[in-house]
Amino acid sequence: MSLVTPMVIFQGDLATAIHELAKCKHGVALTGAGLSLASGIPTFRGKGGLWEKYDPLVYAHIQCFLHEPEKLWQMQKELLDVILPAKPNKAHEALVTMERMKRLACIITQNVDGLHTVAGSLNVLEFHGNKRRLVCLNCSNRYPSERYLEQCPPRCECGAILKPDVVLFGEQIPIDVLMRSRSEASQADLLLVAGTSAVVSPASDIPILAKNSGCFIIEINPEITPLTGYVSDLFLQGPTEEILPMLVEGLQSKTNSDRTP
Ligand code: NAD
Ligand code: ZN
Repeated sequence: MSLVTPMVIFQGDLATAIHELAKCKHGVALTGAGLSLASGIPTFRGKGGLWEKYDPLVYAHIQCFLHEPEKLWQMQKELLDVILPAKPNKAHEALVTMERMKRLACIITQNVDGLHTVAGSLNVLEFHGNKRRLVCLNCSNRYPSERYLEQCPPRCECGAILKPDVVLFGEQIPIDVLMRSRSEASQADLLLVAGTSAVVSPASDIPILAKNSGCFIIEINPEITPLTGYVSDLFLQGPTEEILPMLVEGLQSKTNSDRTP
């Protein structure tokens, strides 16, 4: 028996999602790698990803950066060649519109591609950092990632090898981002969980924290996850680049019809 339900978006479910979004007071989105797939960036566990070639626990580990930075940069430059030219897709754009319509107070993203900000979202908490920046662990200077094009591994003006400004395996989530994300999750009355397998901790705690505070959880993913049917109140099955624009369209027509005398 397959655990995957058929690829059908029930109109009733879509209408419920639009209704909940229209009435929420503090909407939050938690996004993951699936949201950027339509921008050409492979997901963590999807087929053909870089992770099949490079074991992330070796090549994306802080110990690798500290002891063999050239090895870490062997993988990083391939990742940056994919991430830097990538453009936001319809899912990123839909979330920008939702923020402008005051339906979303904030986006908590596990993505390190910076595409929410490139698209125009203003309040974005980058849980795992941003690969568009490099950081020096010696003097804390930061640089745009293009610096690796001149020299790889790229170096800081102080001479130290630069690290992508992301949370590597073996590193802690920056405490300010962790605290702010938890605070957003516990204030949220609606959480959109979009394009994440929801298995990478501690980001995977966010939906549970929100749920325990009484939040309504809408999950959007082509496949079920450990949240589906347990933590999620509503599961919209399908790609975010199709479903998020449908929600925006529904919200816009609802706003227009509510205004009509
Ligand atoms: P994941 O790879 O574990 O899961 C991706 C999820 O996206 C899956 O559940 C999959 O079913 C779903 N998906 C596939 N296509 C989709 C689509 N079109 N629309 C919506 N969903 C779709 O990703 P994760 O949960 O974000 O965890 C992976 C970790 O790896 C994160 O911590 C992240 O930092 C990192 N990562 C980031 C990027 C990026 O920045 N774009 C890419 C790969 C990995
Ligand atoms: Zn430095």
